[in-house]
This record gives sequence, structure tokens and C-alpha cells, in this order.
Amino acid sequence: MKWLKITGAMLLTPALLYGCQTEQIQRQVEIQADEVKKKEASTVVGQEEKVSSPLLKEEARITEERNEQVEAAKVAEKTQQEAIEAKEKRNKLASKEKTTPAEEQKPPATDVKEEATNQNQQEEGQKPKKTLIHYNGHSEQMEVALTFDDGPDEIYTPQILKILRDNGVRATFYIVGSEARRHPEMVKLIKAEGHVIANHSWNHTDFRKLSNEQLLKQIKKTDKLLQEIVGGEVSPYFRPPYGALRPEQAEVIRQHGYIVTNWSVDTRDWSGISSNQIVQKVREQTAPGGIVLQHFAGGDRSATVRALPEIISYLQEKGYNLTTVEEVLR
Ligand SMILES: [Zn+2]
Repeated sequence: MKWLKITGAMLLTPALLYGCQTEQIQRQVEIQADEVKKKEASTVVGQEEKVSSPLLKEEARITEERNEQVEAAKVAEKTQQEAIEAKEKRNKLASKEKTTPAEEQKPPATDVKEEATNQNQQEEGQKPKKTLIHYNGHSEQMEVALTFDDGPDEIYTPQILKILRDNGVRATFYIVGSEARRHPEMVKLIKAEGHVIANHSWNHTDFRKLSNEQLLKQIKKTDKLLQEIVGGEVSPYFRPPYGALRPEQAEVIRQHGYIVTNWSVDTRDWSGISSNQIVQKVREQTAPGGIVLQHFAGGDRSATVRALPEIISYLQEKGYNLTTVEEVLR
């Protein structure tokens, strides 16, 4: 019996102590709750206020969490809104020019939702595969797109336009925004002659060093200026300077309604090689659906100008239809 009593006391003592402690804690909690109420009532609870008691800490944590959730919701809403705007823009382009590749017509709003819903899905590779950077068009079609980067200027641009005009060939011009601002009349001429106006950044900086905000500013500023110059929509085709992007940047650009288009045939016409060597690059690398990279400004482009008539006749003799990027991607 004695043993039982001792054991009972041993069991009861911590329980009683615990009970007392619980009561004490509860009272303390009530006092602290009162303090919180008082502080709230006197509106002195601010973000900067030093938080000392556990309850206040908890209160602050919850407030912070709530603020974070509100911020996250705002960001999500903004992204959704931007995606909707991008979708509207693409739909407008598609219905107006009927040139946007079918693959790119998926509503971006859905894509954003897909990504937001479950990141694990992405990790598990369940996300539908999308082409983020186009290097060429359809290999079963005897089509090639001639593309020209880095202009416009007033020396080589008119010469290239004349050669294209004389041969009845349409091409795609990737325009640098700051150069367009210097030579708006050349942008108008390119458009007037039936070529495709595309975007090659504002000042030809390396996009890999830019934040998402900075790169979108480069693209959108150029887009806006080009639209002002031609008095209407321009194509959604974008080519990063040096063709260089980090993979996640390509996704951001796509989500904003632009289509990243690099090349499959590099003429290296900027490197100081002869016009014959430029033509040789085209002979070696061109295949059906090819996109040929040349430059129409930004340095001495006399070799590019000399090579162009020969490139056109070579490709036409091979049976290629020379057309624009939007057509080879269609
Ligand atoms: Zn360039």
C-alpha cells in the first residue's frame, strides 16, 4: 500500500504541477492577449515595432504571412492579366494576318495556370513540351527564310531592299529599337515592301545578363516603337542578340506573347569573310525549312550585299521558295 501511495504521489505531483503550470501559462496568455488588444486599439502595433512576447511574435508572423499571401495573390493576378493581354495580342495577330503558328496559339493563361497549379508536375516531366526557341521551320517543305539582323541603317538597308525587290523575294528583318528610332523611314520602307518586321531588342545587349524585368522592357519598348513607326501591329517574332538566352528567359518571353526565332544557317557574314565564303556557308548548311542569318547593318556589310544575289539564285535553283519566318514556321 505504501508503495502504491508513493507511486500515486509520484504520478500526481507532475500532473498537479503541470496543471498549475498550465493555469499559469493560460493566465499569462490572457494577459498577453489583453496587451495585444490594447496595442491594437491604440494603433501602435507597426511592422517596425520590436516584438518580444511569444504571442506578439505569433501575431506578427500571422500578419506577415497574410501580407505575403496578399502579395502573392497580387503577383498571380498580374501574371494572369499579362498572359491574357498577350493572348489577346496573339489572337488579334492570328486573325489579322493568319500567320501565327498553330502551336503558339495555345492560350497563355492556361499555361500560367498549369505552372502555378503544381510545380512537381513540371519536375516529373508531365508538363506538355513546348518549343521555346525555333531554329527552323518544317523540314518537309522546300521553303527557306532569309533573315537580316541589327539594322536598319541608311547605307546597306536600301541596297539589300533593292536586291530583294529585284528578285521578288520577301524576307524577315530583326530590328534593333534604338536603330529604328534613328532611321524610322527605313523601317517604314521595309514594311512597305512587304517584308516582316521582327524584334531584335532595344540596344543589342546580352540578354543572359538581364533580369526578366529588364529583358521584357527591351522587347516591349522596341515593339511599341515599331508599332508607332509602321502605324499598326508588327510580328511577334523576336530574336535575342547573339541568339543567346537562358532557358527560363525563353519561357518568360513566350509567356508574354513573343516567339523566339533563331536560325539554322549561320552565314557568319559579320566576321569579315568574303562574299564567296558567305555563299558557301549557305550551300553547306541549308536544308528545307531553313532560317538563314545575315546582317543588314551594324558594320561593313558590303560582303553581305555582294553575296545576296548569288544566295537567292542558288536557293531558287535548288527549288526553294524564299519566304518569311512566319511562313516557314506555319
Ligand atoms: Zn544581332
